[in-house]
Amino acid sequence: MYEAFWEKMGDRCTVEIKGCDSLSYFSNPKNPCWFLEPKLEEAIRSLHGAVGNAVTDGYSIVVGTGSSHLVNAVLYALTSNHQPNQISVVSAAPYYSAYPEIADLVRSGLYKWAGDARQFDKDEPYIELVTSPNNPNGVIQGSVVNRDGGILVHDLAYYWPQYTPITSSLEFNIMLFTASKCTGHAGSRIGWALVKDKEVAKRMIKFMEVTTIGVSKESQLRVANILQFIADGCKQFGSPQGDNFFEFGQSLMKKRWQILREILKENQMFTIPKYPLDQHCNFFGDITNAHPAFAWMKCKEEIEDCEKLLRGHQILARSGRRFGSDPGFVRVSMVGREDEFNLFIDRLSKIQSFNNGDE
Ligand code: PMP
Repeated sequence: MYEAFWEKMGDRCTVEIKGCDSLSYFSNPKNPCWFLEPKLEEAIRSLHGAVGNAVTDGYSIVVGTGSSHLVNAVLYALTSNHQPNQISVVSAAPYYSAYPEIADLVRSGLYKWAGDARQFDKDEPYIELVTSPNNPNGVIQGSVVNRDGGILVHDLAYYWPQYTPITSSLEFNIMLFTASKCTGHAGSRIGWALVKDKEVAKRMIKFMEVTTIGVSKESQLRVANILQFIADGCKQFGSPQGDNFFEFGQSLMKKRWQILREILKENQMFTIPKYPLDQHCNFFGDITNAHPAFAWMKCKEEIEDCEKLLRGHQILARSGRRFGSDPGFVRVSMVGREDEFNLFIDRLSKIQSFNNGDE
């Protein structure tokens, strides 16, 4: 979706890496996170400062191969101090479909997936993954279990101005971010964690050491350039060069959501969640709305399998079942390439004509 922006920027974010560059495992032996490139750390702090979505002062930064790597690292870090029993990992349904897979893949003796946080009634320690805005439904949410012995991990992959109004600079104990959703550079596989407790950060770093001995320097240097570029561009609103990445992203998301809402209004086949209107966004200094990265669509009551219905119209969507919800829901991506989005809209509008008996 963001390719058009980066194409327009041409060579302004090109990074040259010579054959003799960045050979060592080490980036900065003085930093406990010794594989974190100083330029990337600087760019991350500068971007959060410019956007105002998270506090970085007093936080350790741990870089990962995407934030997926960091979810693994954080589960290890929070459970590896000799707990006698496996710790339950929960998240409020509908939750990001990768969490159960990540938690249970290697059948760890340290932790296990325990499903929907709303159903969690055990009187024992737990980890709650709080995703806000949420994947799949874009809802802004907080923790739901709220019991003693709980540790919260905030996955803030979508807390950027193109998706949601930035209403405060967050200061949770563990916050996860990723370049994938911020700038669109999913292929570079760079995510970062802002961690308040130095011991937790240390154990996350240990996990990185043992699993991958750090994170690709080429990727870090490329993403450092990209993040610094968009942080600098934040200072200019309405610039004729169109350097403000978030302005570009928000206007594209806004347009896509307008188109989707119009189609849904006409066809009356699906509903989508109601998002709070008119919130003040500290970044834009204006009232803005939510434009989630996914549309969480619910089919009319009589259709049980929404994914199947859409597949019949050549629309690939992910069933609500995968997110701990029911198959009457589907998640559709709003952040694909322009031609994919246009095809989706075209095919969705045909479902409407079919059901009106026009086809
Ligand atoms: N968290 C959430 C909520 C996500 O939606 C995603 C990507 N779909 C990730 C984490 C992982 O992102 P990545 O590994 O690409 O950084």
